[in-house]
Amino acid sequence: MTSPKIVTRFAPSPTGMLHVGGARTALFSYFFARRHSGDFLLRIEDTDTERSKKEYEVEILESMKWLGLEWDRELYYQSKRFDIYRDFARQLLKTGHAYKCYCTTTELDEMRKTAEKNGQKPMYDRRCRNLTADKSLPFVLRLKLPLDGTTVVSDLIHGDVTFDNKEIDDFIILRSNDTPTYNFTVVVDDIEMKVSHIIRGDDHLNNTPKQILIMKACGFSIPKFAHVPMILGPDKVKLSKRHGAVAVTQYREQGYLPEALVNHLIRLGWSHGDQEIFSKDDLIKTFDLEHCGKSASVFEVGKLDWINNQHIQKKNDLDLRTTAENLYGLDLSKFNDGVGAQKLFKALKERTQKLSEWKDSINWFLGDSFEKDAKAVDENLKAWNPEIKAAVIQTLLNIPASDFTSERTFGALKTLAQEKSWKIPQLAKPVRVALTGTLNSPDLGICMEALGSERVISRLTR
Ligand code: GLU
Repeated sequence: MTSPKIVTRFAPSPTGMLHVGGARTALFSYFFARRHSGDFLLRIEDTDTERSKKEYEVEILESMKWLGLEWDRELYYQSKRFDIYRDFARQLLKTGHAYKCYCTTTELDEMRKTAEKNGQKPMYDRRCRNLTADKSLPFVLRLKLPLDGTTVVSDLIHGDVTFDNKEIDDFIILRSNDTPTYNFTVVVDDIEMKVSHIIRGDDHLNNTPKQILIMKACGFSIPKFAHVPMILGPDKVKLSKRHGAVAVTQYREQGYLPEALVNHLIRLGWSHGDQEIFSKDDLIKTFDLEHCGKSASVFEVGKLDWINNQHIQKKNDLDLRTTAENLYGLDLSKFNDGVGAQKLFKALKERTQKLSEWKDSINWFLGDSFEKDAKAVDENLKAWNPEIKAAVIQTLLNIPASDFTSERTFGALKTLAQEKSWKIPQLAKPVRVALTGTLNSPDLGICMEALGSERVISRLTR
């Protein structure tokens, strides 16, 4: 017998930007589906017309594409599926699993107040559950739920979680204006779309028994559930705007590569031996739910920086340049100019944590006007011993432009220092500041080779 197709879904509500927490849930669903050659669906849960915004939807879709999370089948919108939900609701009414409730807001308020006064959980008292005749009054549809027993959520991450049915209200599935409620639309969609594994944030765990009860009322078999733990900030509180950037697009703007953000997020709560760096292909081959942890994980930017650097080094030069050019309006074509420029680019990759660093840190190479660090200039260039300066310039002038390599140039400066009993920093620091404006630049020999003899001499004599 062939096992049924694996189908997962990501179901964001377009009421805000795609948060890294949501993105991580999407990644778990995506890689689980891909690992098992299944379908990964994307469903926009836009039934809350007041809070749903087109610009958020656009932003979510853009973030999904940027992360490389392509979805299968059509893009679903709940707002286009109201007729389907209504049909299901009417069916439940017909089979006696739902009932019409005519209670007014005033009655419901009173019910709530009485419950509160008696120290009870505010719940609907089911007074319309056994009405025998229809009234010509506005009504909502409520689900007729079991009065006792338990509902067990067999969660692939949390294990069995048991809920007392007594604690679950006969909740509304269709409002008096004929619009379906959240728990109901989710169930209808998951069933209709044949979702086999519902992977979502564990903030939804309390909704799951209700959804299971709807599925049972409809006679559907229950999909598998995996509730993914929260992501926390460094202070161990749920990650939020307070902690800084939370939207996927903010990470893109800061110069994180999508493969790095994917790598970092998937590793929050999932592991595969000691491996830290994963490509998308690695994840398709290895991701599983067995190695997902139950407890919340802390999002550490320092770790993301390290992972980003690893992916920057792995990425092909041209792609990396194009990415930075598009993000920051830079022109990096100068890195095509010969071996020195390519060496410099490699050295840059090794030390870059975020591409945004390139906005200011490589102007010295891209053009001849660049800002200099005033302190470094004062301490190194202004105070530079004229004898050392003249000797350095002469030494570099002696090297033919065609052989102005990092080894030759830096080697010559070293020999000069030895001969004159000068310390290397007495030569190297002022040269570095004159050429790059800062002490914090890549290997000096590589900087010299990348600039070439003419630019080096002119900057030193200027
Ligand atoms: N639309 C819900 C949310 O954005 C997700 C519901 C679900 O995954 O079941 O939180």
